[in-house]
Amino acid sequence: MDFEKNISLRKLNTFGINVKCKFYCKVQSEKEMVSVINSEEYNNNSHLILSGGSNVLFLKDYEGLIIQNEIKGKQIIEEKSESTILRVGAGENWHQFVLWSIKNGLSGLENMALIPGNVGSSPMQNIGAYGVEVKDFIVSVEGVNLDTKEAFILKNSECNFEYRDSIFKHELKEKVMITHVNFELSKSPINNTKYGAIKEEIRSLGLPVSTESICKAVINIRTRKLPNPEVIGNIGSFFKNPVISTSEFLKTQKQYSEIVGYKVSETETKVAAGWLIDQCGWKGYRKGDAGVHKNQALVLVNHGNATGEEIISLSKEIQRSVKNKFEIDIHPEVNIIG
Ligand SMILES: Cc1cc2nc3c(=O)[nH]c(=O)nc-3n(C[C@H](O)[C@H](O)[C@H](O)COP(=O)(O)OP(=O)(O)OC[C@H]3O[C@@H](n4cnc5c(N)ncnc54)[C@H](O)[C@@H]3O)c2cc1C
Repeated sequence: MDFEKNISLRKLNTFGINVKCKFYCKVQSEKEMVSVINSEEYNNNSHLILSGGSNVLFLKDYEGLIIQNEIKGKQIIEEKSESTILRVGAGENWHQFVLWSIKNGLSGLENMALIPGNVGSSPMQNIGAYGVEVKDFIVSVEGVNLDTKEAFILKNSECNFEYRDSIFKHELKEKVMITHVNFELSKSPINNTKYGAIKEEIRSLGLPVSTESICKAVINIRTRKLPNPEVIGNIGSFFKNPVISTSEFLKTQKQYSEIVGYKVSETETKVAAGWLIDQCGWKGYRKGDAGVHKNQALVLVNHGNATGEEIISLSKEIQRSVKNKFEIDIHPEVNIIG
């Protein structure tokens, strides 16, 4: 196994934070992972698994081993009458996998087209977009426990999936390497168009509602709306949308009638964090090279040479101002590597 030393991570995180790591390697198979686990570089240092780097914020140089997961492969495990079960390598690019599934007549993932990153990271924060979450299609997650060095398989119900959350951000944080994710996808169209924007986009394209047209609509909307990390460093939404009690929401709504919220249960409402941040006047703000995107208040950006500390300090100012104005706590969605 080849280990590189002292390499820059700038191109390996979409925020474009210019930090280094002490050791770096890529693994393309479970066999290679075993040889990494048995190496001196692994056993004498802290270690971190990195995939597409689209949901990490490095605060400083990483004084350990970064392992980039490039385990590929898509395998059909079982054909059922209504669905197909697939085993997919963690290193497969997420968007390419979504396109592949659609091309193969499978439905379910189309609303999550164009989310950056890899398949193996999708369970981490239970990625989601346009009314759909990946947890609804995950059968199980396979990997290696980095402490015990043993293989594991967790069923969906054992992953503690919640909104942008899972066991991998808590009990198993930085303790496992996910090697494969098993998905069950539908053979008939699911056609989830409960987000009005998707319906409108399909109408303007003059297409019938289908798995393909939903995917096309999502790609169009996202391309228009979200800043491209290749142009300006970012990790998409920096904060999660806070979930508050509906009674609190109604109280706030009396004072701010325009507040944007969606009922998520009988007693809880999810508030649009972007709206809260925008109301505090942050859109387009810039301090040095750390800033808030000019069109998307939820997206923090690196204009060039911002450090992780500068981004985090800006995020804390934003949290404080939202708390002061609305009495609502907002929390980062990003994985902070300190
Ligand atoms: C422009 C933009 C738009 C985005 N839009 C969305 C969106 O709509 N919805 C959404 O949910 N997210 C969105 N994101 C966030 C991001 O794309 C997802 O969180 C994605 O799943 C991260 O994948 P990654 O491969 O880049 O993970 P990385 O950033 O490489 O890693 C994320 C975390 O997972 C850990 N990790 C990665 N791979 C493994 C593995 N194989 N085993 C164990 N741990 C691992 C890392 O240590 C890290 O803590 C967006 C990001 C950007 C830049």
